[in-house]
Parts: sequence; structure tokens; C-alpha cells
Amino acid sequence: MTTKVTARIYQGTPRNLAMLAKKLQVGELIGVPSETVYGLAADALNPTACRKIFKAKGRPTTDPLIVHLHHIKQLAAIAQVNPTALALAKAFWPGALTLILRKQSCVPDIVTSGLDSVAVRIPQHPLFRKLLKIAAIPLAAPSANPFGYVSPTTAEHVRDNLGNRIRYILDGGASKIGLESTIIDARDANKLRLLRPGAITPEQIESTLGMAVKSVHSRATSGSQVAPGMLSQHYSPRAKVVLHSVLSLDATSQSPDEARLYFAQPTGKPTIHTYWLDSSGNPQRAAHNLFAQLRMLDEKGYSILHAEKAPDGPYAAAINDRLERAAAKT
Ligand code: AMP
Ligand code: MG
Repeated sequence: MTTKVTARIYQGTPRNLAMLAKKLQVGELIGVPSETVYGLAADALNPTACRKIFKAKGRPTTDPLIVHLHHIKQLAAIAQVNPTALALAKAFWPGALTLILRKQSCVPDIVTSGLDSVAVRIPQHPLFRKLLKIAAIPLAAPSANPFGYVSPTTAEHVRDNLGNRIRYILDGGASKIGLESTIIDARDANKLRLLRPGAITPEQIESTLGMAVKSVHSRATSGSQVAPGMLSQHYSPRAKVVLHSVLSLDATSQSPDEARLYFAQPTGKPTIHTYWLDSSGNPQRAAHNLFAQLRMLDEKGYSILHAEKAPDGPYAAAINDRLERAAAKT
């Protein structure tokens, strides 16, 4: 792999969008903004293009991709729809909800890791939507990070990590949510299962549909997967992450090698090597900042990060899921 940076960041002008849409149509990869995290997109119906995603990310082909659509009218061509899935799509799309459904035969095996199911979503980010509309093809896009590393939430993060492996990145500003989509297995119209927590919670889904959502997402540290791609270790910075339910200011050593990452700004004596997700502990802003903070602490060269778990409340399940995976070492 060359170390030369080949990637260029493009603003979302009509001319650039038209150019990038053409690149997608001929099988090239584009780093794309989304409201969750930045993605690495390719034509979902072109297996050669999708194979390039796995190569660029160093992602094992056993970890399936999410297919992104522009319009709900495209859904039935990609997946077998049922009434519950349709109700979920109508309630939460465009948005940070991915549905697992039985796939249609046009979806290549490389996208689904050979499974008979496919992950689909209609994203909300206006530039991603424009690109989907102009390209007029479904786009397979996992997060635009090297496999296992912290997900990117800005165009610069994508260039920093994949700049020598791809050529095109569309800049859509910082990802609004900052965490990957909620994944719901909706293959069975009578039984919904939460595979990955995100900004959209099971409670929201339950109150919208009047139907229970069973949580099956992994908190295991064994390295095993409960569902394809749900690896217990993921989103990991270079530094070793140590989790704390409560991180008291003097619970850790003052070694310059170790940083403390609080949920909210701690009261009391300020110390060096002390950081927080959001000064006032606002859960939405904390989620938005999580991945960027983990990257920043890596850049500062810390070898140990003591991270405080999110207290119960909105986003807590999603944030703690990412922190637990970041802390899991195989
Ligand atoms: P990423 O876009 O990098 O967050 O990764 C997409 C994730 O979606 C994968 O790691 C899987 O966890 C999940 N996924 C994609 N397709 C399927 C599927 N057919 N069944 C279950 N989970 C899936
Ligand atoms: Mg990912």
C-alpha cells in the first residue's frame, strides 16, 4: 500500500455531485457524509466495486455492508418487505435506522457476506441524498475507517485514515449524530430484534409500533459474534481503553501516558490529561463528540484512556456499546 495521499475532498457543488455520481456509476469508491458517520460508498449492485470497499478498509468479507437508498420505492427491489418493516421505514426514514430484511436475488453475495438477508437504510444527510438521487443506484456503504478503528465523523477523518487508498471524499461537515445507525432485524414481521443500538432507541420503536423489540446486541468480550459483523471488539483507538462506571479524579494515576475521558466536565480541581465528551454532559452532544474525542486522544499519543461510561438516559446504550467494544481486546 502506497503512503501517497491520493484522496481529494470535494464540496457538494452541483458540478462535483454530478462528477462523483458518475464515478460511482463506473464502480469507483467515494467517501460520503451521513448523519451517522462517514461512509465508504460503492454501487451496491456491482460486486467488483463492492469488493474494493473491503480491500480499502481491510474489512473481512464476513462483515456485511449496509445498502443505502434514495427512495422507499426502491426498497422492494432490494429486499422482501413485510408490513412491520414498512411501518418502521415510514416512521423513521430518512434516518438513522437500518433494517435487516430477506434480500432479493439482485443483491450480490459480497454485500451480504453470502447471507440471505440484507441491511438497508435511507439516510437523512442532504448531500448523501443528493448523491443517491443523481447516481440513481443503491449504494453499499460501511463506515469509512480502516476495519476495527474508530469511525470517522468528518471528511478529514476519512482522508487521515484512507487518504492513500481512495480518491474521492464528499465533504458534508461533521456528522450530526456521530454514532452508527440503530440496526433492527425485521425479517420476522412479528418479532423485532435490536442488533446494534444507535440514536433511535427500542423504546421509540416500541411506542411507534406498539410492538416489543428484543435486544440481542452483543456485550460479550469473547470475540464471538451474535450476528454477522457484530464483533465484540471494534471502534478501537490505538490506546488501551479502560472503562469506569464512575471515574473519580484521583482513581487513576497521574502518569502523562494516561488520559481520563469523562462524560461531563468534572467539578473540582482541574487536572491535566483530563477530557470530557460534553462540558455539561448533554447526551446528544456527547454522542456527537465521542469518536472525534477518541481520535484526538490517540493523536495526543496517550497509551491508556480511562473512559467514563454514559449515565442512564438518552444515547447511553449506544455510547456504552461503542465504549465497551473500544475497550474489548481480543
Ligand atoms: P458499518 O456500516 O461499518 O457500521 O457495518 C455494517 C454493519 O451492519 C455490519 O457490521 C453488521 O453488523 C450489520 N449488517 C449488515 N448486513 C447485515 C445482515 N444481513 N445481517 C445482520 N447484520 C448485518
Ligand atoms: Mg463500521
